[in-house]
Amino acid sequence: MSMKPRILLVNPPIYDFAAYDFWLKPYGMLSAAGKLRGKADFALFDYIDRQHPSIAGKKQYKSDRWGRGTFYFEKIPNPDCLVDIPRYYRRFGLPRAMFEEFLRDEKPFDFALIQTTMTYWYLGVQEVIEDIRKFHPNTKIILGGNYATLCRSHAETIGADLVISGINLEPLWKYMNITPDPKQPALWESYKILKTGVLKLTDGCPFNCTYCSVQKVYGKFKPRHIEHSFAELEFMCNLGAKNIAFYDDALLYKPEEILVPFLEKVITKKIKVNLHTPNALNARFITSELANIMVRGGFKTFYLGFESSSAKWQKQTGSKVFSQELAQAVEHLKNAGANLKDITAYQIIGHPNSDMQELEESMHFVHSLGIRGMLADFSPIPGTPDGEACRNMINLDEPLMHSKTAFPIIMLGFDETNRLKDLQRHLNRN
Ligand code: SF4
Repeated sequence: MSMKPRILLVNPPIYDFAAYDFWLKPYGMLSAAGKLRGKADFALFDYIDRQHPSIAGKKQYKSDRWGRGTFYFEKIPNPDCLVDIPRYYRRFGLPRAMFEEFLRDEKPFDFALIQTTMTYWYLGVQEVIEDIRKFHPNTKIILGGNYATLCRSHAETIGADLVISGINLEPLWKYMNITPDPKQPALWESYKILKTGVLKLTDGCPFNCTYCSVQKVYGKFKPRHIEHSFAELEFMCNLGAKNIAFYDDALLYKPEEILVPFLEKVITKKIKVNLHTPNALNARFITSELANIMVRGGFKTFYLGFESSSAKWQKQTGSKVFSQELAQAVEHLKNAGANLKDITAYQIIGHPNSDMQELEESMHFVHSLGIRGMLADFSPIPGTPDGEACRNMINLDEPLMHSKTAFPIIMLGFDETNRLKDLQRHLNRN
C-alpha cells in the first residue's frame, strides 16, 4: 500500500457578473503541487477547464485561434450586497453535481489545496469547501492565492484549515510535512488534455502603481531561473500545449537578463508555440530589438498597459507609461511583424480619480494607433492607496464589493458605464 499522501487540487467555480477564459489556469496551485511531484498522489478538479470531456468540443465552448473562449455558466441571483447592480450574476464552471460525484467516487484525501484568485470570487471557494467537508470531513483544506493573501482575515472565516498568504510556501511544507523539490515544474500532467499553459519568468514588479496589488502579493521583483522556466515550457509543449500565457507582471523589465536570453533559447531550440501576454506589458520597454525577438520567439498577442492619455493622471498614479511611448511601442511591434489586431491597450474604467483620466480622449488615441482598446474595470483592492480611497463609498471589508463589474457602475453610474463600453465596442469594430 502506498504511504504517499493523497492530495486533491481544486480550481473553484467563478461567481461573478462576467468571466471569460483568458488563458486562466490555477498556476500557483499547480506550481506548488509540482514541487511535490513523486512525493504525493494527486487528483485535480478544475471547474473552469474548457477541455473537460463534458463540454469539450461543444460549439459554444470552442476556443478562438489563440485558445481563449467562454465558460459553461448558470444564472443565479445577485448576492444581497450587489442586488442594486443591474447585471446578471452567474456561476461559471462545471456543475456542482459533477464535483459531488467525483468526491463520492474518490477515496478520502489527506489534503485539499484550493486555488483562490480574485477576492470577489470567494463564493466559489466557499462552495468547494462545503462539498469537501460533506464527503471527506477529515481532509485538511488549504487555501492559497490572491484572495488568501489580500483578504487573509476574511479567508480565515470560510472554513479552511490553513490559509497561506503571499508566495512563501514554508508554512505549507511544514503543515504537510513533505520536503519540496524547488526545481520541479508545475503539475501540468494532471490535465488529461492540455492545450493552454502558463509560464512566469519573474515574480513581482519594480513599479508601485497606486491601484495595483502585485507588490502586496509578491513583494520585491525577482527573476526566476531561466533554465527552470525553459524546461517548464518544453514540458508543456510535450504535453500538447499550443498556447502559453505569461503571468508575469513585469515581463519586460531588465530584458537583456531575462526575456531576451529566454527567447534566444526558444528560437535556437526551434520551439513552436504561441505566446501571449494577458497581463499588461509596459510599453515603455518595447524597443525595436525587443519587439523583433518577441515576434520571432512566437509572441502572438500583446496587451499593453496604457490606462490614460492624460499626463496628469499618468503622473499621479505612478508614471507607468506615456502616450508617446505607447505610440512608439505599437510602431516597433508593427515593424517586427505583429498583427495590429492582436495588439490591445488596456485602459482603466471607474478609477476613483477618473475625472482626471479623460478616458474618452484616451480611447480615441488608442484607436488612432490602429490597435484594439479594452476597458479594464477598476477593482478597489484593500491595502492599495486607490482601493483604500474607496472605503467611504463601499464596504471594503466585504470582498464581493471589490467586484470590477460593480465598481465602475457605482463610481460612474450605469448609463455612463454602458456609454463608454458601447463606445469601446464601436471603436474596435471600425
Ligand atoms: S506596472 Fe503593473 S504590475 Fe507593476 S505595479 Fe504597476 S500595475 Fe502593478
